[in-house]
Amino acid sequence: MTPQYDYDLFVIGAGSGGVRAARFAAQDGKRVGICEDLRIGGTCVLRGCIPKKLLVYAAHYAHDFADAVAYGWDPVSPGHDWAKLVAHKNKETDRLNGVYINLLNGPGVKIHEGRGVITSPHTVQIGEETVSAEHILIATGGWPFVPDIPGKEYAITSNEALDLAERPERLIIVGGGYIAVEFAGIFASLGSKVTMVVRSKLLRGFDDDLGKELDEALQREGVTLAYGVNIAAIEKTPGGLVATMDDGSLLQADAIIYATGRHPNSRKMGLEDVGVDVGVGGEVKVNKYSQTNVPSIWAIGDITDRMNLTPVALYEAMCVLRSMFKDDPTAPDYDNVATAVFSSPPIGTVGLTEEQARATYGKVDIYKSRFRPLKHTLTKREHFTFMKMIVDPASDKVVGCHMIGDDSAEIAQGLGIALRCGATKAQFDATIGIHPTAAEEFVTMRTKEPD
Ligand code: NDP
Repeated sequence: MTPQYDYDLFVIGAGSGGVRAARFAAQDGKRVGICEDLRIGGTCVLRGCIPKKLLVYAAHYAHDFADAVAYGWDPVSPGHDWAKLVAHKNKETDRLNGVYINLLNGPGVKIHEGRGVITSPHTVQIGEETVSAEHILIATGGWPFVPDIPGKEYAITSNEALDLAERPERLIIVGGGYIAVEFAGIFASLGSKVTMVVRSKLLRGFDDDLGKELDEALQREGVTLAYGVNIAAIEKTPGGLVATMDDGSLLQADAIIYATGRHPNSRKMGLEDVGVDVGVGGEVKVNKYSQTNVPSIWAIGDITDRMNLTPVALYEAMCVLRSMFKDDPTAPDYDNVATAVFSSPPIGTVGLTEEQARATYGKVDIYKSRFRPLKHTLTKREHFTFMKMIVDPASDKVVGCHMIGDDSAEIAQGLGIALRCGATKAQFDATIGIHPTAAEEFVTMRTKEPD
């Protein structure tokens, strides 16, 4: 029998979520096509998590050379070659682009180069070509958003910041979210004079104590934090960029990065024409199984603006395949997803913030610890680790763990398992610590903060 459609599944967008869904469906014997209008790999691999983390590694060396002296190493005055770093980073992202193409080719996913426009519940147009599919999966992610101000064309976003030809000596970063604090750490460590323009506070949505600790840490790194102001206009002058602030003051810079959020990539995809519900922010509306109101069209990842993290998009991809093909509707469970911010120092977090926990449970027990890590007892560097645990006293369950300090991203992963398993404070306390580590503090927190 001739199949009714060209494909069982057609995926629009070859980023982390789209590639995961396409290749696992194909491995399972489905006929799968995918289209992409940029490079295969998507934001995380090519313009986000991976290249960003490589720059974070580069930034870490700034302290290491100086700290080594306390451990008996001869002092050195290292220089840094930004262009070399960017070239090495690009070599790695090129390699990963190839890896992702192979991940699709291996199980027989057909790659269509170009932008996909949905023309009916079962058809997608890519350039001149139209393909039909039983299921269409939208996985087109998000794109940096820059507010509409005079001179916005002089601003850059994280996309361009990763590929600057030269490292800016004077840098303004607008925003106080994940991307802003990560880039502030990278550029300040490499020697740029960084000013952050933060209209409200750092890391809104995270536990408040993390933002406060990060504020102090950034200041110790020489970052200037301008709170409660915003840029009204940007001008290009022979001496560089000049930002006129909304309080009338002027700030000069060689580059201005806007890290003011990302918007779902849903425009000009034909969604309105086929009647797919799109929210006011451009997010594709889906039910708990990642299915839109048009039953043959599904969406996963940042395009749906649920929990915008790569591992969550991968997880949504696995769930959506069960819902589509296995007669097993599977809703992702978003509780206790551990996450990290690769600021300097990094943040690891899982579960509820204190504010969320108080709203959920009323009374909660809070445990905190702040200390200078062992490594810095010799270096005398003003560098601290902060940890916080939130417990529901009624059930004794640990409902939130938050950390800022070296290795916190690595530590948060293990805490994520414990919280997913519903671990209690008594079980944390009964766990033997690994000595000497920072992580052991999470199993030796004995003193509650006063109410
Ligand atoms: P966020 O939404 O996290 O932060 C945006 C920041 O910009 C906030 O501080 C916000 O302030 C501010 N802002 C928004 N609009 C304006 C404006 N018009 N003028 C001035 N400031 C403004 O976005 P990011 O760009 O940092 O990150 C986007 C996404 O990328 C996140 O959803 C995250 O999931 C993902 N990501 C994840 C990473 C990780 O897992 N480590 C790393 C990097 C990104 P206010 O708080 O007042 O709204």
